[in-house]
Amino acid sequence: MALAGVVGYPVGHSRSPAMMAAAFLELGLAWRYVRLPVPPALFEETARALAGSGYAGVNVTIPHKLSAPELADEASPAAEAIGAANTLSFADGRIRADNTDAAGLIAALGEPVAGRRALVLGAGGAGRASAWALREAGAEVSVWNRTPGRAAALAAELGVRHAETPGPSDVLVNATSVGLMPALDEDDALAALGLEGIAPPETVVDLVYGDRPTPLWSWASRGDGRVVGGLEVLVRQGALSFELWTGQTAPVDAMRHALAGDA
Ligand code: NAP
Repeated sequence: MALAGVVGYPVGHSRSPAMMAAAFLELGLAWRYVRLPVPPALFEETARALAGSGYAGVNVTIPHKLSAPELADEASPAAEAIGAANTLSFADGRIRADNTDAAGLIAALGEPVAGRRALVLGAGGAGRASAWALREAGAEVSVWNRTPGRAAALAAELGVRHAETPGPSDVLVNATSVGLMPALDEDDALAALGLEGIAPPETVVDLVYGDRPTPLWSWASRGDGRVVGGLEVLVRQGALSFELWTGQTAPVDAMRHALAGDA
């Protein structure tokens, strides 16, 4: 039996075990995917031990995403450029770091972004991955953040624009934690993001997900455009990790279904 898992601290809230179990079942693979609560001081030694203990790979979540590329023997261009990884793969005694959050966003969008104006709200880990992914896909990227200096630094590093206020866009990505618990109502969430009085653009992605519609989802749903939720991005990044480890096409419908049932 092959093993995979998710390393985080805490990790009890992760929806990945249900999603991955469904994927392995759907393809008839005898794999197990487990939650691995690992505090920061033990992350590196645990990752190395897993690599030598029958694990094919692990997903990496808060607070280890920044440390993951540092301990790896090699990192994908995305993990290197973003400076964070959400996937480690173990093969031939080597550890490889990948960032499937970036490609997962583009897969979840499922529409061309080249030449379109993309506005990323947030300059934390998810903001970095989103801005890099959209820039690589050819979008004209701007980054806004509550703390403007972080957005300015990220924009300068990636060679994209810093938006001092959220302006017009074709694709808007909420990569802040606004909408996560504790819940804000829609007006407060829009105010926190500087979106008051602004109509939703053609496409809105809210990376935040929960058991009910997020405030940004509710706002975006009243427009004429498309809304992509955080669970779809979660499915797509998980599908890419699954494919790295197993070499098989991920059963995304089964993974989506598992998350819906897990809510
Ligand atoms: P992070 O590194 O902690 O960054 C948090 C971001 O949210 C920062 O830009 C922060 O701005 C901003 N923020 C926090 N509270 C705010 C408020 N009240 N008003 C305005 N901005 C606020 O977190 P992260 O890892 O980037 O994750 C961000 C969100 O994306 C989380 O909700 C996470 O669950 C979600 N996410 C989803 C997926 C997925 O697959 N769907 C993947 C990754 C992340 P400051 O710099 O001003 O503090």
